[in-house]
Amino acid sequence: MIKKTLVSAFLLASTTAFSNMTVTTTIYPLYSIAKEIGGDKIKLQNLIPFGVEAHGFDPTPADMAKLSKSDIFITSSDSMEPWKDKIVKSLKIEQKVFDMSEHVKLRTLQEDNDKHHEDEEDEKDKKGNKHEHEHEHDGMDPHYWVSLNNYILMTETITKLFIEKDSTNKDFYIQNSNNYLTKVKALKEKYDLSMATCTNKKILVNHDAFGYFADDYGVKQYSISGMSPEDKPSAKQISELINLVKNEKINTVFFEEFASPKVAQTIAKAANVKIDTLRPGENISKEENKRGYGYLQIMEENLEKLKFAMDCK
Ligand SMILES: [Zn+2]
Repeated sequence: MIKKTLVSAFLLASTTAFSNMTVTTTIYPLYSIAKEIGGDKIKLQNLIPFGVEAHGFDPTPADMAKLSKSDIFITSSDSMEPWKDKIVKSLKIEQKVFDMSEHVKLRTLQEDNDKHHEDEEDEKDKKGNKHEHEHEHDGMDPHYWVSLNNYILMTETITKLFIEKDSTNKDFYIQNSNNYLTKVKALKEKYDLSMATCTNKKILVNHDAFGYFADDYGVKQYSISGMSPEDKPSAKQISELINLVKNEKINTVFFEEFASPKVAQTIAKAANVKIDTLRPGENISKEENKRGYGYLQIMEENLEKLKFAMDCK
C-alpha cells in the first residue's frame, strides 16, 4: 500500500515538470515539520541559522534576499519574531506570510507575569527602564511547539498548506504527514503515561520556555531568566532561587543549549543538586541537523530528564 502510493507520487512528479516551491521558516520546529512533510519536493531554508539563540536573532540583508525569493514564509509569532513586520512590508511579501500562531492553541502569560512583576519591582530601584521590558512579556507565550498537542496541530497545518500550494504532490505530502504523525503521537503517549506517575511536578529551567508542557501535565515551571534566555538575575534573585530549590525539593537545575549555564551552575552548586540540559527546541546545531537529530529526539531526551527531575516512573 505504502509502496504503491510512493510509486504513484513518483510518476506524477516525473510527468509534470513542477519546479519545487521554496519555503522559508523562522524557528527550528517549523523547519523540522516542513522538512518532514516537504522532503525533496520543496526547497527549504531556515532564516534563523542553526546554532544561534533564537530570541536574539536579527535578520541581515542576505536574509532579505532569501525571503524575496521565497514562495512561502512560515513564521511562528510576532512575539518570537518582532522584526518580521518591518521586513515583510519593505519586501511587499504580505501574501506569502503564513503565521503558525493562528493555527495552534495559545496560552497567555498572565500567570507568569505575576512572578516577573515581583522580580522587576526589585530591579526597578537600580534600573528605571526595567518596567518597559516587562511589557514584552504581556500577551501570549510564544513557545507553543513545546506542547506535543500543538506540534501535532502544526504538522497537520503545514500538510494542508503544502497541499493547497502544490496539489501536484498531494499524495507525497499526505504520506509523509501520516508517517510523521504516527511517530509524534507515539511520543505523546509516552509522555502521557510517564507524566501521570510523577510525585514532584516542579521544574526549574533557564527561561520560561516550558509553559505549554507545564499546562499539558499540571507541572509548575520556575525559571532563572524569565522570557529572555540571556537575562541575568540579580544576586538577590539567585539566592531566592537557591532557597526555592531547597524548599521545593527540586533535584535538578536545568539549563539550555545556546545560552550561558553559569547561573544554573551557581544555583545547583549552592543547593547541592544536579545540573542538566532541558532543551526547548527553539534551535539545533548545524551538525545535529546534518545527522538527522531533531525535534523528536530532543523531546525524547527531555522526557528522560523530566522523569528523573519530577520523580516519575
Ligand atoms: Zn524561548
